[in-house]
Amino acid sequence: MKKSTLITNATLIDAPAGVAREGMNILVQDGRIASVSPALPVTPDDFRIDADGAYVCPGLIDGHVHLFLDAGSAPRASFLNTGDDAKLQIAARNAALAISAGITTVRDCGGPADLVFRFQKAVQYGDILGPRILAAGCPLTRPQGHCHFFGIEVTTPAEARRAVDSQVRSGAAFVKLIASGGGLTPGTRPSEADLALSIMREAVASAKANGVHISAHCHAVESIVRALDAGVDIIEHASFVRPHGPPKFDPEIAVRMKDQGVIVSPTAISGVRIAQTIRESGSQNGHDHDAVARLESRRRHTAKFLEFDVPILAGTDCGVASTPFNSIVDELLEYVNAGMSPASALRSATSDSARYLGQPLLGRLETNCFADLVFLSGNPLENLNYLRDPLLVFKEGEVVCDTRPAPMAIP
Ligand SMILES: [Zn+2]
Repeated sequence: MKKSTLITNATLIDAPAGVAREGMNILVQDGRIASVSPALPVTPDDFRIDADGAYVCPGLIDGHVHLFLDAGSAPRASFLNTGDDAKLQIAARNAALAISAGITTVRDCGGPADLVFRFQKAVQYGDILGPRILAAGCPLTRPQGHCHFFGIEVTTPAEARRAVDSQVRSGAAFVKLIASGGGLTPGTRPSEADLALSIMREAVASAKANGVHISAHCHAVESIVRALDAGVDIIEHASFVRPHGPPKFDPEIAVRMKDQGVIVSPTAISGVRIAQTIRESGSQNGHDHDAVARLESRRRHTAKFLEFDVPILAGTDCGVASTPFNSIVDELLEYVNAGMSPASALRSATSDSARYLGQPLLGRLETNCFADLVFLSGNPLENLNYLRDPLLVFKEGEVVCDTRPAPMAIP
């Protein structure tokens, strides 16, 4: 690794301030940002890159992914029918696609823990190209519950505590609870809350004791209420599915989320895309009808969460059907369509999400932060579509993707 790189003439995207600053020079040393300044630092021996006015944005964070699902039409079946080597190849392909999309950090919300942590270390040591991985390892679920095929099945608070402790010891950056059924897992119902409140409370206490955050997958209204009662930090999906009738946003619950400082990851784009696939299949059965209603409600709920000022962590749920690892821009565009400014949407995948995830070195282009940089041909604060085709991606000071037509480097 070159110890020092000077990037000159960059138009820096200051995500927290929501402004673009022209003519900036970024000095990268040992994987971190050493300085950001309009003045050239006196460092004659640096490797230099002339950004030629390109927009330089913080590396993106996808706050909800599953590296070990293949994003095909039947991700659960393909997971169950592949061996470990093939699973690792799928994860490697997903990770490479994320990097090429400027995603330098992912939060893996559940997978086979032994493979997840092995893969995480291989990426960390540079053996495999990929984003930094904040992983839950195995999610905690009820016996035969949603994601049980890579989860830890828990039936008592004591089992939940042991499961949390073991996942954190293995390298988990957070704990994931499966608080309701899910569309991916036959035999579970999204309309039903699955984990008992006593189990969720014990898992929360154990996560806090271990110094990690805890999130809950919640489709059923009752599961959201239990997650709030238990004191989780993040709610995934928050679909407001009821035992009868279509999903219905509950303003009182949203106010509770806001008051308790609970963050929501709406995973809107995966919902919209899977619903579209079901619609195109022409299936009219009751199960699919309910699934379409549940999946499409994520788009409406995103707008309601914005209206109620509930903080949003950008996450795609990529790895699930029809949602490849470069879906983050479409997720952010869902937020813009729901009423967010492009700057806020960008923050939900950079500086805001870094704060929500307790990662002070991520999501900003400031001194001492990790040098995770994405070079773009246009200003994403004006049009998020410029995020689609990064010219150059740095992760911790190293070039991990370079699609520039002609070299800009000056030896
Ligand atoms: Zn998920």
